[in-house]
Order: sequence, then structure tokens, then C-alpha cells
Amino acid sequence: MTTIGVLALQGDVREHLGALAECDVLARPVRRPAELDDVDALVVPGGESTAISKLAVTFELLDPIRKRIAEGMPAYGSCAGMIMLASEVLDGRPDQQTFGGIDMTVRRNAFGRQVDSFEDTVDFDGDSLPAVFIRAPWVERTGPGVRVMGRVTGGPAAGRIVAVRQGNLLATAFHPELTGDLRVHRHFVDLVRQADVDAR
Ligand code: GLN
Repeated sequence: MTTIGVLALQGDVREHLGALAECDVLARPVRRPAELDDVDALVVPGGESTAISKLAVTFELLDPIRKRIAEGMPAYGSCAGMIMLASEVLDGRPDQQTFGGIDMTVRRNAFGRQVDSFEDTVDFDGDSLPAVFIRAPWVERTGPGVRVMGRVTGGPAAGRIVAVRQGNLLATAFHPELTGDLRVHRHFVDLVRQADVDAR
């Protein structure tokens, strides 16, 4: 059975494990390099990217995750997880590191400090989705290999890029793990199964 890990250093790990379990895959927390070896794909949860970055170094997961991503392991990052998959971060801490993999520039806390958290509708892959944003980033630049999957549809941030895909990597600025709407997780699970087929 397809096994998907959730990076369990900080953030909303349990919510992602729950959403994945509803998508008929084995979902497990990943906290050590040996646990990373046992998963087909990885979810990087929302939380605080500076903390995840620091803990990934402490738990000796930064380089192993970079390596697996470079080898083609599918990964999905929500919010702080999106930041962790970005090649470039604006408004990050100077020592903040990322796993990288998606050729994009993201801006941390982009929606402004006065709106810490809000719900909006996002156009995701042609579908309208309810989306929860919590001190979310947005994407300011995408490289040529990056497909824009979603944008904010209303309000002052309308048109902002909040979901992208590059190869086996998917990232959203919002938190589908908090809404009970499984469409983004299902998209990722399909991507993982497809990657598995391609690798055979
Ligand atoms: N602002 C957080 C960061 O920079 C992300 C917030 C979130 O994941 N909800 O990592």
C-alpha cells in the first residue's frame, strides 16, 4: 500500500495524517531519517517554517529530505510546508533553510499582519475550493517548470498565486487539512500513485 509520511517536527501533523488516512493510504509521522526511508512520499505540514527549518537540521533530516526530493520523491507542502519547498524565500529569517525543489519565490506572511487568518475561495485546478489562510505566504515568482494550480479568487489579494506544482512536488499557501475538503490531498495521492507507476 502507498505509504505517505508527514514530517512531524512541528505544525499541524495530526490534521494531515487524518486527511491522508481518509484517502486510503498508509499515513505515518516522520521524525527520523530511518522513518523517511520507509515512505513513498512526504507531506510538510503548516506551522512555522523557521521552526521546521531549525528542527530539520537538529533531527538530521534537512539533507536526507533534500536528497529524496532531488531523486524524485513526491512531496506536498501546505503553508509553512510551501515555504519549505521553495527555492527562494522573501521576508524569511537570515538563517532560514528550505528543502527547495520548486523553482519559485515565496513571500512569508504575505497577506499582511493585520489579517492573521481568513477564509477565502480559491480556484484550484479548475475547481472552486474553500481555503483557510493563517499567516500565509503567496508566490511572487514561478520558474518555467512550475504550473500554477491555484489563485485567490476574491478580495484585495485576488489573482495571487497560492497553489503550484512542479513535477512530483505540490504546494499550497492554504490549509486543506483544516477544512475537511479532501480534493487537494486526493490530488496529491493520485500524483504519488502516478509517480509510483512511472518509476516501475
Ligand atoms: N507564517 C508561517 C511561516 O512563515 C506559516 C504559517 C502557517 O503555516 N500557517 O512559516
